[in-house]
Amino acid sequence: MIVQLIYKVVLQMSITGDQTYIKQMNKNLVLHSIRREAPLSRAQVSLSTGLNKGTVSSLVAELIDENLVYEIGPGKSSGGRRPVMLMFQNKAGASIGIDIGVNYISGVLTDLNGNVLEKKETALQNTNYRLVFAEIVKITEDLIAVAPATPYGVVGIGVGVPGIVDDHGNILLAPNLDWQDVRLKEEMEDYFQLPVTVENEANAGAYGEMTFGQGKDSDTMLFFSVGIGIGSGIIVDKSIFRGTKGFAGEVGHMSVEMNGAKCSCGNRGCWELYASEKAIENEAKNFYNEELRLEDLLKKADEKEAGAIRIFHGVGENLGIGIANMINVYNPDLVVIGNRIAKSKLWIENPLKRAVETRALPFHQQNVKIAFSEMNSDGIALGAAYLMVETFLA
Ligand SMILES: [Zn+2]
Repeated sequence: MIVQLIYKVVLQMSITGDQTYIKQMNKNLVLHSIRREAPLSRAQVSLSTGLNKGTVSSLVAELIDENLVYEIGPGKSSGGRRPVMLMFQNKAGASIGIDIGVNYISGVLTDLNGNVLEKKETALQNTNYRLVFAEIVKITEDLIAVAPATPYGVVGIGVGVPGIVDDHGNILLAPNLDWQDVRLKEEMEDYFQLPVTVENEANAGAYGEMTFGQGKDSDTMLFFSVGIGIGSGIIVDKSIFRGTKGFAGEVGHMSVEMNGAKCSCGNRGCWELYASEKAIENEAKNFYNEELRLEDLLKKADEKEAGAIRIFHGVGENLGIGIANMINVYNPDLVVIGNRIAKSKLWIENPLKRAVETRALPFHQQNVKIAFSEMNSDGIALGAAYLMVETFLA
């Protein structure tokens, strides 16, 4: 009898649990449809989600109570009374995205639709973790300070890092920052008392490009984040391809030169040694015998300095060689080159495309577009901020 009673209670609990879960799923579905297609009437939400009108009405009422949806004046009538239209309340909260480069940190404050409200950037002279952490804190605090007063406030902080991040947000290895086993997520959550997501920067950039940039209509996209190193965000069927442990996409460490130079990852002949901002800086140092940054060399190229132009051409070709390999493997419809190297588009685009034309398999070249990000380095911070919004609304 007692056993039966316990069984009944447990069964009851699991049904209630399931019902709560299903209701939450349906609510997310309704919210997602309003976020994607607003303005929408309740009847249109019902059509778009397949949920019946009664369910939609009660879920919309809850979303209005929670400040996530609001009503606007009547829309077009399809015969009867003109329906009230629903909008997503993108001003219900704000999100912060931080992009940790090797030689800079940038941050954005956005609303819940990814509209940028404020931007900050600072140059990094040193990649010592404690110093970088202090800079992250400073930029984040500056952004929090100007966040508008909203019902949910700052919903969290998304961070993009050029390194290998595990599914708990721990940075296992960031060779170009010289970081190993860094618990950035934990430390930031303790400090700010806000949810934090840490993501590989190329994944964050790919996500930004897919949501706000040129990848909106793409199914299979390769995003190359080219700064001091090279990372890639691989989008397959509109989702980030992560691999078994979330480490996929470390293309900068593909071997392209069998007996090449030694890389900070321990391997030799890695692609990023020949095709990144680091390659540009190294070539410039060899040629001009002084430390020049990307911007210095761009200035020389603009002044038609042959040496500088030759350096960009060489790096552009090397970038194209690696991209041709990736096009052969993934058969993408879109390739986007982003992060700091996008500033040198004028000088690297032609040699890059020529290398792809010469080296990628002809079938693979038929339906692929190669583009440079128009979001510059903002794409990564924006992608990180928006990943945080998705986590908040999930
Ligand atoms: Zn390497």
